[in-house]
Amino acid sequence: MNNLTNEIDRRRTFAIISHPDAGKTTLTEKLLVFGNVIRSAGTVKGKKSGKFATSDWMEIEKKRGISVTSSVMSFEYMDRHINILDTPGHEDFSEDTYRTLTAVDSAVMIIDCTKGVEPQTIKLFKVCRMRGIPIFTFINKLDREGKEPLELLEEIEEVLGIESYAMNWPVGMGKRFLGVYDRYNEVFIRWQGKEEEQHIPFSELDDVKEISEHPTFVQAKDDFELLEEAGNDFSIEKVKNGLQTPVFFGSAIANFGVEMFFRTFIDLANEPQPRQTVAESVKPQSEQFSGFIFKIQANMNPAHRDRLAFLRVCSGVFERGMTVKVSRTDKAIKLTQSQQFLASDRETVEHAYPGDIIGIYDPGVYQIGDSLYSGNQQVEFDEIPTFAPELFVKVTAKNVMKGKQFGKGITQLVQEGAIQLYRQYGTDDYILGAVGQLQLDVFEYRMKGEYNVEVVYQMIGSKIPRWLEDQKVDTNLFDSRNMLVKDRNGDYVALFDNDFSLRWFQDKNPKIKLIDIMAQD
Ligand code: GDP
Repeated sequence: MNNLTNEIDRRRTFAIISHPDAGKTTLTEKLLVFGNVIRSAGTVKGKKSGKFATSDWMEIEKKRGISVTSSVMSFEYMDRHINILDTPGHEDFSEDTYRTLTAVDSAVMIIDCTKGVEPQTIKLFKVCRMRGIPIFTFINKLDREGKEPLELLEEIEEVLGIESYAMNWPVGMGKRFLGVYDRYNEVFIRWQGKEEEQHIPFSELDDVKEISEHPTFVQAKDDFELLEEAGNDFSIEKVKNGLQTPVFFGSAIANFGVEMFFRTFIDLANEPQPRQTVAESVKPQSEQFSGFIFKIQANMNPAHRDRLAFLRVCSGVFERGMTVKVSRTDKAIKLTQSQQFLASDRETVEHAYPGDIIGIYDPGVYQIGDSLYSGNQQVEFDEIPTFAPELFVKVTAKNVMKGKQFGKGITQLVQEGAIQLYRQYGTDDYILGAVGQLQLDVFEYRMKGEYNVEVVYQMIGSKIPRWLEDQKVDTNLFDSRNMLVKDRNGDYVALFDNDFSLRWFQDKNPKIKLIDIMAQD
């Protein structure tokens, strides 16, 4: 096997998706401990930054310059090269959170057993689903009394619409928790409290009577046998195509079932996959270097106008100092300042392989979705999709004399992908659409810092956007409750107040086809 193939095969690039408080930080920390990146849990900076209010975040960004410490975490584990991409939640939830999912080969979905499938998980799941990537589920907090395991599986199947396959089965929960029956690895992992696991192979289980004859165990075994008969069969093909999710039960905080989960995950998860271009698909093993930019992080410090672009390597080998071309502009650029992310530090990277994420210095030449390639044969990857914003504001310049800078700032920030711009039908007012509040705060901040324009927001609030298939629609059908705007391609988008007004409109106008861009199956 040549070196490139070997490097590709040992890479696992994934994101962890969850609703806030399900245990993402806690689980990530355990993985970093396995990878010897940190010595003990509770030290990841990302933990706190994920929970800061936006204003605090700004202060931190200003002090630290570009903050990327928790954006990508790379480490070695069992001969594998692991790249974990952070998907910020809470107040940091933004389009970047979604875009990050375009750069991974698989995802880990954490579900809190006491809560089941929650709203943010659904949103992130849908984006993974659109890409058909493998999704592995970790049902967390088994040390607490939660929903019944069968009910949780049913919820995953019904709410998310994906087949589930329990890789292990919990025996009891909360105070009655005895451990998990790991059917994939054929061991019983016995719960012995925090940080301690005892592994008993199935063949020896009958000898451990305090387990095998325990009423909780007998009960769980009944459930499990039901599942064996009526449940889905395990299919690695389905898993690899995102049609079946392997489900693991455990407790992140107690470090219970986490390592077994991780080992099984890295065995089964996809290595870096070919990537679709407008013309064909590019194999990671191709000698030609190629990659695409999925995120641009502006420096919040006005004294340093530089930005950092996040590039996913798709094929070939990245070498520092190499000259590449940007597909969109056909311009050549030498990549001298490149960084890799090692959990808490940024380091200059000399080489990177398919599946790796590197940060490259952006003097203002990149846009989100740009393809970079070496050699003469142009590579242009498929566009990164537009994600439906949820939060809308009307925006104007505080000082009308600043119209020109205002226009320039908006144009550039929209092009960069920092925010989405719409124009109100009829009035042509500028309307910004964001996935989270953070995007609006960053926009305001950058307009002031980079273009010297103070902006004024007039809240429109959260809306449900639906694109209209037919552009010759009767515009009189729309009013303030279902506002009509145009996106930057000039296509009509109706912004509905809520589910009710959306349904009401659809009932009244059954002929108008409304498109939900987050529901492409
Ligand atoms: P995040 O918001 O998804 O990153 O969640 P955190 O990792 O910060 O966890 C949220 C809360 O749940 C914290 O108070 C954790 O200590 C707690 N937590 C995480 N994992 C477990 C677990 O396995 N059991 C219990 N009981 N609590 C947990």
